[in-house]
Amino acid sequence: MVLGSLFTQPSLSLTLSEDMVFVHPSQFEPDLLLPSTGRDPLIFGTALLSLPSAKAVNKIRVVFEGLCDASGGSGQPYESSTTLHKELEIDLKGEIIEAGDHAFNFSFIVPSNTAPYQRCNYGRTRHSVKATASFAGAFTPSVSSPPIAVYVVASPQAAGEVPLPADISIQHFSEDLGPVGIGFASPHLTVASLVNVRVTMLGAPSPVQILSIDSFVTQQYEIQYTNGKVHHPKAKRYILRKISSTDSTPSPSLCVPICTGSCNGGQPTSQELPLAPASSPSSTDCCPPRPDLPSCDSNPLAALDAEQGFHYSRTMRVPTDDHVRPTTLEGTKARIRVSHKLSVEVRYRLAGAEQDKILFIGKDMVIGSCCALADSLLLPSYSACAPKTIQRPLHMRCYCSTSLKEMVDRDGLALQRAGEIQEPNSFRLLGADAGSKSPGFTDTGTPTLRGSPRYEMEELEEY
Ligand SMILES: [Zn+2]
Ligand SMILES: [Zn+2]
Repeated sequence: MVLGSLFTQPSLSLTLSEDMVFVHPSQFEPDLLLPSTGRDPLIFGTALLSLPSAKAVNKIRVVFEGLCDASGGSGQPYESSTTLHKELEIDLKGEIIEAGDHAFNFSFIVPSNTAPYQRCNYGRTRHSVKATASFAGAFTPSVSSPPIAVYVVASPQAAGEVPLPADISIQHFSEDLGPVGIGFASPHLTVASLVNVRVTMLGAPSPVQILSIDSFVTQQYEIQYTNGKVHHPKAKRYILRKISSTDSTPSPSLCVPICTGSCNGGQPTSQELPLAPASSPSSTDCCPPRPDLPSCDSNPLAALDAEQGFHYSRTMRVPTDDHVRPTTLEGTKARIRVSHKLSVEVRYRLAGAEQDKILFIGKDMVIGSCCALADSLLLPSYSACAPKTIQRPLHMRCYCSTSLKEMVDRDGLALQRAGEIQEPNSFRLLGADAGSKSPGFTDTGTPTLRGSPRYEMEELEEY
């Protein structure tokens, strides 16, 4: 009898139409006439109640929840909070439901300001859907489904829009180097994407040796506690890896390979919430990408005479989402917030000087999610050579697990064009004053990003 009742327990399972949902915070929507809910995506799902025998069912409840664990680091409190809670209930009022499988469909609106999926040293934000069925009578305990993870990705583009290309230029006047133009160009500036970095010098007043040029992304976290306290941990700097010129030759005619192995493509186990990065949407247990081969510049880069111009252009890769997290968009209710600055460091030595100097120029940037592939925002496009069976859904792929070769084939031509942009022959600053001039600083000094005091203490993160 006891054994028999074990085998006759009802069970409940959940399936979702999508495990990744793109939200678009309303601040990025110029058309404010649209009701905000019109932009909010929906997730659809089915709760399947399996009854070994007829049962009187009271209620079926489905909960969609976002949980955030956050801590500002050592010495800072650790806090768990609910960032989103939505509930649906079907009241069956003790209706007798016959033995067999019974499907209950549901949908949830995902608000566009929902805190996106996060995992980092300062905590995590996860979303899940879970269903519970309760029965009439004291002898049948309620049953719950395992929680199913939903990955909420915030995108600066509205659904169906192609990510906008980034083309940022900064003009600067340095007393040592003269006018310096900095450019960052990318077909889509996201985590793990390729960026063309260019530096143009129109001529220094006196001879100078350019020792090296590097580009960095400075990542600043902000932890917002529920009591209103805000903590800013120390910002970290990540170098952008230079990719070799042989790797950066695009062959866009190649089709994008899709995993055809018998593996299940490293999908997150749907039975439990993601606990380790290994089950994040960006991980791939199979078909690991070929590691990027870092390539170095010559050292020194150039020895320039007075008034001699210099142009530097290089394709570099933003680190993957294990290191760089997508920028938190305005209008997002995230407790773990991330902001970024993209910068260029020019290391140089003036003729006759004993010490190197550094020119550090940067700009705040929005670095999009590596999951915001054009392919996943738009309808997937299949090429003629794509295999018939797709083992791994296209949306499971993010730039982090995309090989350099594939990235170059996709974006190489645009990057090449960006690098070849003709720089102006003359360069004038309008209304330049002493404040816009950079005296440069010595190698032993602490690098300081201009106009941003909370970046003061930086450390260079190895990855
Ligand atoms: Zn595979
Ligand atoms: Zn990724």
